[in-house]
Amino acid sequence: VDLPIHDAVLARAAEFDDTPALIDGTDGTTLTYEQVDRFHRRVAAGLAEAGVRKGDVLALHSPNTVAFPTAFYAATRAGATVTTVHPLATAQEFAKQLTDCAARWIVTVSPLLDIARRAAELAGGVREIFVCDSATGHRSLIDMLATTAPEPRVAIDPAEDVAALPYSSGTTGTPKGVMLTHRQIATNLAQLAPAIPAGPGDRVLAVLPFFHIYGLTALMNAPLRQGATVVVLPRFDLEQFLAAIQNHRITALYVAPPIVLALAKHPVVARYDLSSLRYIVSAAAPLDARLAAACSERLGLPPVGQAYGMTELSPGTHVVPLDAMRDAPPGTVGKLIAGTEMRIVSLDDPTRDLPPGESGEILIRGPQVMKGYLGRPDATAAMIDADGWLHTGDVGHVDEDGWLFVVDRVKELIKYKGFQVAPAELEALLLTHPGIADAAVIGTYDDDGNEVPHAYVVRQPAAAGLTAGEIMMYVAERVAPYKRIREVTFIDGVPRAASGKILRRQLRESA
Ligand code: ATP
Ligand code: MG
Repeated sequence: VDLPIHDAVLARAAEFDDTPALIDGTDGTTLTYEQVDRFHRRVAAGLAEAGVRKGDVLALHSPNTVAFPTAFYAATRAGATVTTVHPLATAQEFAKQLTDCAARWIVTVSPLLDIARRAAELAGGVREIFVCDSATGHRSLIDMLATTAPEPRVAIDPAEDVAALPYSSGTTGTPKGVMLTHRQIATNLAQLAPAIPAGPGDRVLAVLPFFHIYGLTALMNAPLRQGATVVVLPRFDLEQFLAAIQNHRITALYVAPPIVLALAKHPVVARYDLSSLRYIVSAAAPLDARLAAACSERLGLPPVGQAYGMTELSPGTHVVPLDAMRDAPPGTVGKLIAGTEMRIVSLDDPTRDLPPGESGEILIRGPQVMKGYLGRPDATAAMIDADGWLHTGDVGHVDEDGWLFVVDRVKELIKYKGFQVAPAELEALLLTHPGIADAAVIGTYDDDGNEVPHAYVVRQPAAAGLTAGEIMMYVAERVAPYKRIREVTFIDGVPRAASGKILRRQLRESA
């Protein structure tokens, strides 16, 4: 565990040798373990030669490609802290991140070069932009493979040095830079390994973005540490995704709820041979038990297993172990991983611990709790208390056997006349309606100033005549009166972050 992250992940690369580590799902380009190991060392030498020094922040700005892990591990081997950037960020958004973390270097891909250049201009302080792919007038990682410079020997302190600086998703506010040390990330990988066992012979499909901590962990660090083959897709397109599962005989999927929804409901799914799949894991947002069951029944798989975590937790704390997927209670996000503590405390009185069955805020303490938010000591102190407990902002409860159920975020709970309504529960119920393709719920205010549940609904193409009244009635027949939907707005699509989370903020701004 006490290795820098590149050494922790690639410790067994020599053993896996000519096993494919990464395959481009669109053109078949393949990198073996031996190549990733050799290439990242050469590129580290090239980066050091170009001036990258210990502690420098390097922004990695790329969709999923087979070169992404090489760029990442080369940068950390050169001593840099990698901040991953959303490949769809505008120049302004990118510049904000560059400024926030005082980044000195950018690694990008040719199609995004213009945006990277503009972002660097706006931010100032960037010394050089490198590209991963072919020459474009910028130094490329491919050029660096030919360098004769020695491999950098940077002394890394795994306990203190920050390996990664991912930004939180910005679901509840401005994204915050999360400082994760080498030790925090490596420890969490070891903690998750027994439950996320993708290893030799397994093929996982990297359809969620590597830049987000979930993709970075479940689709890059964990499978590469364990000898699996990662098939890489640059973005989510349902047909391309299904074709990749079929053609590459994918064995395990790590996805987010919108993909589970597509697998459960979309008609095209039936046209593909998905028989190579052994299991599906979903994380990053609430997944309803009925939806999970519909997906696994349709595909003939064990129930979709969930995992839970957040950027600030490096990121995982709960997972349904593979061997428990069939028997775990429906809807659970899993059991607490080893070496980690959890408390559930009252929302009204955070000093009061709650017994099984009662919902409160989830607190976590363990070796994977972040070092802090970059440059935001107040936000860090608000999140991690003096005793080291991280306040997740999520509401949940455990059952008698310790299975955790996440209800929703504290901030998203709708307070209707003193009652609390979880939008996630209503969204899940709405999705059980055959005429509803997708849905999101937020709290808005009625004429009397009460906060009320307001549903945003995407109708199935065949249900264009479905009315607001019918939807409100459907829900009213199934929930306590205080949870009823009081208003419905029809939309074309639910706004979501790259990690699959509903962007309720955007709905609120449009309301
Ligand atoms: P920000 O903190 O910037 O507002 P964010 O919290 O969405 O954004 P992430 O760190 O990507 O940023 O997401 C962590 C959150 O995702 C958790 O706090 C939780 O609300 C949610 N989450 C993760 N896994 C699950 C799950 N299995 N079920 C329900 N919610 C989940
Ligand atoms: Mg958060």
